[in-house]
Amino acid sequence: MIHSPLKTGPILEVDRLSVEYGLKDTPLPAVDNITFVLQNGEAVALVGESGSGKTTAAMAIAGLLSPNARVSGGQVRYRGDLLPISDDAAMRPHRWSETSVVFQGAMNALNPVHRVMKQIAEPCILKLGMSRDEAIARARELLELVGISADRGAAYPHELSGGMRQRVMIAMALACRPSIIIGDEPTTALDVITQAQIMKLLGELRSRLNLALILITHDLSVVAEACDRVMIMYAGRIVEEGAVAEIFARPKHPYTRLLIQSIPNPASGKRIIQPIPGDPPTLTNRPSGCAFRPRCPSATGICSSEVPSFAEAGGGRVACHLHRTLTQEDEVAAHA
Ligand code: SF4
Repeated sequence: MIHSPLKTGPILEVDRLSVEYGLKDTPLPAVDNITFVLQNGEAVALVGESGSGKTTAAMAIAGLLSPNARVSGGQVRYRGDLLPISDDAAMRPHRWSETSVVFQGAMNALNPVHRVMKQIAEPCILKLGMSRDEAIARARELLELVGISADRGAAYPHELSGGMRQRVMIAMALACRPSIIIGDEPTTALDVITQAQIMKLLGELRSRLNLALILITHDLSVVAEACDRVMIMYAGRIVEEGAVAEIFARPKHPYTRLLIQSIPNPASGKRIIQPIPGDPPTLTNRPSGCAFRPRCPSATGICSSEVPSFAEAGGGRVACHLHRTLTQEDEVAAHA
């Protein structure tokens, strides 16, 4: 039987979370003081370019940081209880049963020498204490749930298509009945049609199982259909957060504006996309003040000396010194 948690309210509270890489005396901050709340059953996207800290933040929440990374500040609560995110052993009971991850590139994440049925059944035995027969029955049920005939469970990963392998990854992520799924670029390696099918499947599972979803992506175009809310990350910080419709209609941060301009928009008839000039900063060359300053078309004096703090805007929040001026300019342009 598939578990369906029906509680409402915040399921995850991330409070001033910071993560750094490197040695303690030469720390390289990858995630800087991020705060957000995830409601039960809600889908939130963490969007940003490579190196923005989105995957590191999500892995810290799941207790899956790589050995060269550590939580340097903040806390995470799951259903109100503090998670021991800095303690690998103490996180073990929480991993996969509360929050689980669908990784990108299923071919790398799946074990090539084991049949997929075995790989789905294994966490049921190890984490849920099921007998082998019970675990196989659950694996068959999970395969059917993600749209794969249970008989295909006898296949090895290389015998399945990319889309089917990603479905297997989703089945594995659901094995221990988590309440939160983190999708780490779950459709990156797939063609556009399969991408759409996988996102549709995640959406259906979300509503059927009342799952909360944290979708990590560099691609804003996948967010519109799949998520309720979006958080834009840049250089380890959240720079804008809001409802998906509001962010797409009225982006307030210059980086969000450029991200939106950089995706194709067939509905507008716009065929030319505008790439974002320059490169994001690396961990070792974060600019002073606003980290987006070297690429920002609106940067001014204060941007190099002061880190912008969050302001409430349009039902969300934005960290930009000039967001009010830019919004006013938009309003003037709209009425011109
Ligand atoms: Fe651009 Fe300044 Fe706003 Fe940063 S604070 S996004 S540099 S205008």
